[in-house]
Amino acid sequence: MASVINFSPGPAALPREVMQQAQNEFLDWRGTGMSVMEVSHRSAEFIELAAQSEADLRELMAIPDNYRVLFLQGGATLQFCAVPLNLASPEQTADYVITGSWGKKAKSEGERFVQINVAADAADSSYTTVPDPQSWQLSEGATYLHLTPNETIGGVEMHEIPNVSDAPVVADMSSTLLSRPVDVSRFGVIYAGAQKNVGQAGLTLVIVRDDLLGHASQQTPGITNYKVMADKDSMWNTPPTYAWYMASLVFRWLKEQGGLQVISDRNDVKAAKLYAAIDGSGFYSNPVDVRYRSRMNIPFTLQDAALDAVFLQESKEAGLVNLKGHRSVGGMRASIYNAIPEQGVDALTAFMANFENRHG
Ligand SMILES: *Cc1c(COP(=O)(O)O)cnc(C)c1O
Repeated sequence: MASVINFSPGPAALPREVMQQAQNEFLDWRGTGMSVMEVSHRSAEFIELAAQSEADLRELMAIPDNYRVLFLQGGATLQFCAVPLNLASPEQTADYVITGSWGKKAKSEGERFVQINVAADAADSSYTTVPDPQSWQLSEGATYLHLTPNETIGGVEMHEIPNVSDAPVVADMSSTLLSRPVDVSRFGVIYAGAQKNVGQAGLTLVIVRDDLLGHASQQTPGITNYKVMADKDSMWNTPPTYAWYMASLVFRWLKEQGGLQVISDRNDVKAAKLYAAIDGSGFYSNPVDVRYRSRMNIPFTLQDAALDAVFLQESKEAGLVNLKGHRSVGGMRASIYNAIPEQGVDALTAFMANFENRHG
């Protein structure tokens, strides 16, 4: 197959230009005669890549100087444990707001290391909305407030981070990081697995305010200890060098595009087009409260679920792949991360209209 539009939720499509650059220098990186994956993380070349990539990310996100950026492994899932290990002791309490599957998993992993107060849980809406922040039952003196600003599976996004707690806000931004500008100073910790908008699987970004370093519980493994990793510039052990390199190319690409505001405006247009196609149809529907619809992951169902398999087969034949919804939700889901161009969304909406004409 020559070329497809890949709507995968993650690992996800990467910008074509980035893939081409990686291909061009795959065997001979920067004149070393070696692939970047073959060089030592302690080599001058790799250390320069690491420093430049951090500088590029800081510039893109306008990360204040009192934050550290860590390039780690273990995915967002390891951060579900690393966050309480670094920020709390087992008898302390943290508030969690649960707006979907990932927040639920963050809680079930985290509660082995900290007392968790579920301040709000959108279960009774089947995770199609965000409970009104004024109704969140926050605990007195919580060590942190954990949020999932974009729930990748349900397609529920908090477009604003509510200002309701004095505790540091910890955010799992795996599927929203780099899709728009964010005010980093509103957060204590931001973390994200890379395989949605940042790059390939294997790298995890953690952005942590420096006053939160150095409070880890005694039993915290070094590899999950933010201070240990910060002190060694994420090279306390071997970092995921190739994944880091890919992220460095993506940061460059984002800068060439004009930065996160440009990207965000594009993402607005893409999402608006797809939601308009769904809402305007009477054949497709999206269950999410319109105030909290995700700009990155857009689930939709067909009028007749018996047509799901036909839709998937025909869309695939049309070069539109990985549209199957998560097994817990069913239907379809289009993930339209930064690397999906507007024409990709146009191709999808044209296919959807055509499919409806034939089957609706
Ligand atoms: C994909 C995802 C995860 C899981 O990430 P891993 O890197 O597989 O651990 C967690 N949270 C959110 C919001 C995600 O989108």
